[in-house]
Amino acid sequence: MRPEPLYSLFASVTSLPGIGPRISQLIKMIAGENLVDLLWHLPSGLIDRRYAPKVFEVKPGAIATLTVTINQHVPPPNRRLPYKIICSDETGQISLIFFHSHKTYLKRVLPEGEIRVISGTVEKFGQDLQMSHPDHIVTLAELDSIKAVEPIYRLTQGLSLKVLSKAIQNALENIPDFPEWQDPAYLNRQDWPTWKRAVLLIHTPEHQSDLEPTSPARQRLAYDQLLANQLALRLIRGQMRRTPGRAMNSTYTLLKKVEKAFPFKLTHSQKVALDEITADMSSSLRMNRLLQGDVGSGKTIVALLGMTIAIEAGYQTAFLAPTEILAQQHFDTIKSLVEDAGIRAALYTGRDKGKKRQSILDNLSSGDTQLVVGTHALFQEGVVFRDLAMAVIDEQHRFGVHQRMSLVEKGQSVDLLVMTATPIPRTLTLTTYGDMEVSRLTEKPTGRLPIDTRTIPVSRLNEVIAAVERAISRETKVYWVCPMIEESAVLDLAAAEERFLNLQSLFGDRVALIHGKMKGSEKDAVMKSFSKKGTDVLVATTVVEVGVDVPEATVMVIEHAERFGLAQLHQLRGRIGRSSQKSSCLLLYTGNPSALARDRLETIRKTQDGFLIAERDLYLRGAGDLMGARQSGLPEYKLVDFIEHANLIQTAQTDAKLILEKDPNLLTDRGRHLRLLLYLFEQDSGVKFLKIG
Ligand code: ADP
Ligand code: MG
Repeated sequence: MRPEPLYSLFASVTSLPGIGPRISQLIKMIAGENLVDLLWHLPSGLIDRRYAPKVFEVKPGAIATLTVTINQHVPPPNRRLPYKIICSDETGQISLIFFHSHKTYLKRVLPEGEIRVISGTVEKFGQDLQMSHPDHIVTLAELDSIKAVEPIYRLTQGLSLKVLSKAIQNALENIPDFPEWQDPAYLNRQDWPTWKRAVLLIHTPEHQSDLEPTSPARQRLAYDQLLANQLALRLIRGQMRRTPGRAMNSTYTLLKKVEKAFPFKLTHSQKVALDEITADMSSSLRMNRLLQGDVGSGKTIVALLGMTIAIEAGYQTAFLAPTEILAQQHFDTIKSLVEDAGIRAALYTGRDKGKKRQSILDNLSSGDTQLVVGTHALFQEGVVFRDLAMAVIDEQHRFGVHQRMSLVEKGQSVDLLVMTATPIPRTLTLTTYGDMEVSRLTEKPTGRLPIDTRTIPVSRLNEVIAAVERAISRETKVYWVCPMIEESAVLDLAAAEERFLNLQSLFGDRVALIHGKMKGSEKDAVMKSFSKKGTDVLVATTVVEVGVDVPEATVMVIEHAERFGLAQLHQLRGRIGRSSQKSSCLLLYTGNPSALARDRLETIRKTQDGFLIAERDLYLRGAGDLMGARQSGLPEYKLVDFIEHANLIQTAQTDAKLILEKDPNLLTDRGRHLRLLLYLFEQDSGVKFLKIG
C-alpha cells in the first residue's frame, strides 16, 4: 500500500531508457531493482576532468581533457594489435589506441582532419603519449556534454561506468519533490538541503568533500534513513506493548525439574538473564526481549528454562532455528533435557511431508505438543497452535521483522525471546534492536580454555595437514572450512569437493563433506556421523556457520580466511573451544592479503571477545568492506556511516520519541509527510501499526 507520490521511485530500473533485462540484473546485484535503489547507490569517488592542458605539458597518468586535430588513422596489420589514431595540437602529438574496435565506427566519431575534444587517462608508451579508449569523444559544439567533474560508482563485471552513470542520471531526471518531513527549525540549524536537493547534490559532486559522510547532503539523507528506522522500531515496540501479555505465574516446579537435568550450574549472567525473562513472563506486558551472547555462551539453555514457565502455565511454546541442521540439533538436545520432566516436544521442518506432517500439525492444533522446534516452516499458514504463548527465535539475524511478527501472530500476545550470537556495537544496537529490551550473556561457561589461533600462509599446507593428522590420532575432531567465493555457490562447492578428495586420499573414510546443496537428510546423516563416531574431519562450505554443537571438535582450519568477514570468522571459530580440551584455529591465507584483510586476521588472532571484534568490524567496514555488512547479518543502511553519523543515531531516537508522543498515529500534516518517509525507506512494518487516517 505504497502511497502514490512514491510510485515513480519504486518503478523498476527496466523502465529507464536503454536498460534491458541483462543490465537490470547487473544493477540489481550492486544496487537494487528500483529507481530508488539507484538513487541510494552513492558515488564512491569522482573524476575531475577540469585538467585541460596542451599536449606538450600533459602529465602521464593524469586524466586530461584535450582538444586535438585528428591527423591519421593507422589500422593494425593484424587483429591482435590495436587500432591507432594519431592526433595533435600545436604543441605536440598523442595517439589514441583502440583494441577490438570497428574501423567504420572510429572513422565516424574521429574523422581525419577534424577537431575533437577527448577525455581520458594519458599514458606514456616509450617516448610517445597515448590514450587508450578515451572516456569521452565530442565535437567542440558538444563540449558541454562532458561533465567537468563526474562521479564514479561501484560497478560489477559487465556493467560499465558509462551505462550505470547514464541510468542514475536518468533516474534523477524525474524525482519527485516531497513535502518536508523533517522539522524545518532543525534543518535550518543543521543547514541541510531538502530531500530532492540532497539527492541531486550527492550525484553531482564538485569536490571530494561533497562525497564525505559529513557533507550536508549526505547527513541529510542519513538522517532521513535513521529517523525512518527509529520511527518504525518505535511503532512496532508500541504495538507489542499495547497488546497486553499474559501474566504467567509460575511455581517454577517444571523449571527446577529441567534444570536438574543439566550436568552443570548456570553462570552468573545466565541467572541474571533468566531472572529478566521470568520477570517479563509474569508481568502483564508482552515480552519482547533480545538475548545477546557469544556463540557457546549458553543462550539455548536459558531460553529453554524460560519456555518451561509457559508450559507449566498450560500453554505451548515454539523454538525457531534458521536451518534444518540446527533445528534437528536443538531438538535432540532439548528433547533429552526435557524428557524426564514429562514435556512433550516435537520437531517440524519443511522436510516433513504427508502423514508425518499431518500428525505433527494435529498435535500442535490439539495442544498435545507443548514445545515445538522448527524452521521457517513454522511460519506457514497451515501451522496452527492451540495456544501459543511463547516463541524463541534463534540466530535472530536470519529472520526479518516480518517473520518475527508472523510467528507472534500465531498466538495471542505471544511472549517473544529472540537470540543472537552477533555481538553488536553500541551504536548499532539502537538501530537494529531499538524495539526490544536486551539481556546479555557476558561470560563463557566456566572451564573453557582460550582458543589458540594462528595465521598461516597456504604454502605451509603440509604442516597444517600434519597437525590435522595429530589431532585425529588424539581422538579429537576437525572442521575444515573451505573458501567463500563471492557470489558463487558453484565455485564454493568445487573448492570444497577438491579439498575433500585430497583429505580423503590421506585419511580415508574418516573424512566427510557437507555443503549447502545437499538434501536435508544427507546433511543430517553427515552431521550425525561427525558428532558421534565415524567422521573425524568435516570438510564444509560455510553451512557450519551457525549454532552447530560438537564439543569433541577442537581444531578448525579455515582456508582463504582472508576472504571472510570478521563476524563470520568469529562465528566459525565459535564452533570449537566448546569443551575442556584445548582448541586451535588455523587461519590459512593465500597470496598477499590486503591491509584490510590482514587487520581482520590479526583481530581474530588476538582476541575472542565478541564485542571487541564487533567494534573492530564496524570500524573496518566503515573503511570500506562492503561484503562485511551482508555477512554479519546486520541490516543494510546504504546512507548511514556508523562511525561518522554516530551522533545522528541518538538524535533520531530522541526525535522519533518526541514525534510519536505528540502524534502517535502520524495524523498531523507533518505526520502524514513522515508516513511518506517510512514508505520511502520501506519501513512498512511500522506503518502497519498506525491507525488509518
Ligand atoms: P549458544 O546457544 O549461546 O551458542 P548453547 O546454549 O548451545 O550456547 O551452549 C553451548 C554449550 O555449552 C552447550 O553444550 C551447553 O550444554 C553448554 N552450557 C550451557 N550453559 C553452561 C554452563 N552454565 N556451564 C557449562 N556448560 C554450559
Ligand atoms: Mg545457539
